[in-house]
Amino acid sequence: MELKETKQLIETAMDHLSSQSNVCSSSEENQANYCSSAKEILKTTDKIVKSYIRVSTEKEGILRIPAYRIQHNNISGYYKGGIRFSEYVNEKEVENLAILMTLKNSLYRLPFGGAKGGISIDPRKFSEKELNQISRKYVQRFAPDLGPSHDIPAPDLGTNEQTIDWMVGEYKTIHPGKSYHGSFTGKSVANGGVRGRREATGIGTFLSYSWLIDDWLSEQRKQNAPNRTPQWQTLNRLFNEEEKEIRVAVQGFGNVGSITAQQAFHYEKTRHKVVAVSDRSTTLYHPNGLDIDKLITYTATHHDLPTNLEELAEARVEAHVLPAEAVLTIDADVLFLAAVEDQIVASNMADISAKVLVEGANAPISLEADDYLEKQGNIVIPDIMANAGGVIVSYLEWKQSLTEERYSKEKTHHEMAEQMIPTFEAVYQAYFSSTEKTLRFTCFTVSLRRLVDLLYRHGKLY
Ligand code: NAD
Repeated sequence: MELKETKQLIETAMDHLSSQSNVCSSSEENQANYCSSAKEILKTTDKIVKSYIRVSTEKEGILRIPAYRIQHNNISGYYKGGIRFSEYVNEKEVENLAILMTLKNSLYRLPFGGAKGGISIDPRKFSEKELNQISRKYVQRFAPDLGPSHDIPAPDLGTNEQTIDWMVGEYKTIHPGKSYHGSFTGKSVANGGVRGRREATGIGTFLSYSWLIDDWLSEQRKQNAPNRTPQWQTLNRLFNEEEKEIRVAVQGFGNVGSITAQQAFHYEKTRHKVVAVSDRSTTLYHPNGLDIDKLITYTATHHDLPTNLEELAEARVEAHVLPAEAVLTIDADVLFLAAVEDQIVASNMADISAKVLVEGANAPISLEADDYLEKQGNIVIPDIMANAGGVIVSYLEWKQSLTEERYSKEKTHHEMAEQMIPTFEAVYQAYFSSTEKTLRFTCFTVSLRRLVDLLYRHGKLY
């Protein structure tokens, strides 16, 4: 979903909210004005900073690389959002991701607003020394806009705890004597990070799906008269036969995708097998299922998935090697998207065979494709609900920086689930009991309702 589509959906959801009762604690006659004023605020972005990072490289000499920090809105708390290193980073992409952060944080009632950062590089083309230099220069450039009580970055696509540790190091140098532990999240555990952060988004993404299945399987939910017949029928077809195996495909095998695939591989309540996984260059497919643990062991040292018979033998995995994009249209029941944006769009939406789609990545499905899939009876679990595990655990890390408490990995993931489940309950309840639009639209309205209320309480609406 691109920037203009996100803004379009905010507009539609706000128009819908404006016709509902009790949107903010205002009288009914003022509500339309307040909603219109809130719409303008949330469709625009507080601050966009673009700069160039000058770096001396071994292969290409001196480069000036575009870098961004974009702060969308902080009505619900300090700006918060990851920093990505990708050759596709551009201003519109970063702004879109910043808006999605505002909506995600509000949906989960976290005390954060939305921001995002990015550097336009393919990190695989740079040495470790160069990446260290780029990471530290990013902090130098954006220092006035960052800080533990202002804007708190985290890792994202192409970045990891090492990137964040370098950034924290530079932050300390720039601000001697100041508190720095809460300035970034996603740090290594040795550097004040929280245990279990790396796995959090993948675990949370799978939970957004497994919770729906568990909830649906509970007798009480099944007895509810369904207002969404096509989606109800989809769940019936997939999960009513006890012996039926659910075939799962996962696009992306990085932080999010590999852990999501592993969760599906080990899921015990319903029979799941992961028939396909992919990364930027390959899809691996086997109709009897892939051994995800072995693939994780292989990628831990080789970074990418095996691409030929020799590499598959080294990984001790049996699979057919297909082109990277094959994962999207493969014969599967459930498709987790955990790579990059704009993967399911008008040109391929009719070719998707999965009936449940889950956005571990940000914005992988266009608005048009989302509407189309909904009308076909598919269930699309949107990014702002599915992939919030990372920011929820970032919140625990930030809280941990203010106290002496140290979370174990189990406690981290338990707290994350505790924070996610009330939102699942509220959103799925609203979705299945209405006939209004998509699950994404439902998430937007739940999130926006809270933002409008906060804007009203802060006296920002006229
Ligand atoms: P990562 O860099 O660890 O892994 C990305 C994976 O996607 C790799 O396997 C890569 O080969 C693959 N990939 C890259 N480009 C591709 C392409 N064009 N086609 C197919 N595959 C491609 O990144 P990550 O941290 O796993 O993030 C993945 C997505 O999840 C991103 O959209 C990110 O914004 C989102 N996300 C991440 C987190 C987090 O905590 N890491 C939190 C929320 C959302």
